[in-house]
Amino acid sequence: MSDPIRLGIFGWPVAHSKSPQMHESAARALGIALRYERFEVAPDELAEAVQREHDATIDGYNVTVPHKEAIMQLIDEVTPAAQAIGAVNTVARVDGRYVGHNTDAPGLVRSLQEAGVPVAEARVVVLGAGGAARAAVVGLSNAGADEITVLCRRPEQGEALTQSLAAEVSCTLEAAPLSEASWYFETATLLVQATSATLQSNPSALPFAASLPIDALPGDAAVVDMVYRPLKTSVLARAEERGLTIIDGLGMLLHQGAIAFEMWTGFEPPLDVMRAALNE
Ligand code: NDP
Repeated sequence: MSDPIRLGIFGWPVAHSKSPQMHESAARALGIALRYERFEVAPDELAEAVQREHDATIDGYNVTVPHKEAIMQLIDEVTPAAQAIGAVNTVARVDGRYVGHNTDAPGLVRSLQEAGVPVAEARVVVLGAGGAARAAVVGLSNAGADEITVLCRRPEQGEALTQSLAAEVSCTLEAAPLSEASWYFETATLLVQATSATLQSNPSALPFAASLPIDALPGDAAVVDMVYRPLKTSVLARAEERGLTIIDGLGMLLHQGAIAFEMWTGFEPPLDVMRAALNE
């Protein structure tokens, strides 16, 4: 019998991650021998821990907060899209070399497509300008969005994002202060909440949602929140009150994992099994 596929996730903390259940249940359903471990390592221990797993020829791994940028210096190759986004969340061993990908970007797009939200020719407003926002911009541009406006509270962060991604995106891309949201909301077809403001633990969740001019969005706009704890964030709750289409962040989590699973195993991911594991 061949050795099990050996995978894992580097993060700090990582105890909360549902990726082990998601990948192991998918493998069980397909009859594949696969083990997925948690590697909880502090930033100053990452290089050593990654080298140890590379020496042990681990087949692949995920990388989560706060290591998505630092990992790029520790692997053999980074795909151009992940390089542009500035973050790697999935590493696969190919011919003995460790190659870093960003599956958050296509994961978001697939979750929107699955929900029936048109992405091609969309006029998108992205809230936030951190790593998740960068992944959204690259993913949605690659999927054919027409224009993307990034709104954030620190203008310099928005400027840095647009400048560094200008060569990567094929659509119109601009940044503006969050305080000018009304103007951009009026013509948006899709709002992407990519800040950490709506996290369960964030005391700003309710005031942040209340400060957004959700009423300015067209009646047929869709709103996705990348945050999935809670599933119905303060922003999604407001959008739902308005009768807009809402998409939670669990779909993106599922699809970024499904893309990684296929990369690692070569098997078509059993989406229903993986979704059920995330919902447990
Ligand atoms: P970062 O810390 O890199 O960026 C967070 C962004 O949110 C920054 O632009 C930050 O602005 C902004 N922000 C935070 N609080 C507020 C606020 N109160 N008002 C306005 N802006 C605010 O985080 P990431 O980009 O990596 O991740 C963002 C969220 O996306 C995470 O919370 C995570 O849960 C989610 N995510 C979900 C994924 C999924 O699979 N569903 C995948 C990846 C991320 P500033 O710098 O000024 O603080």
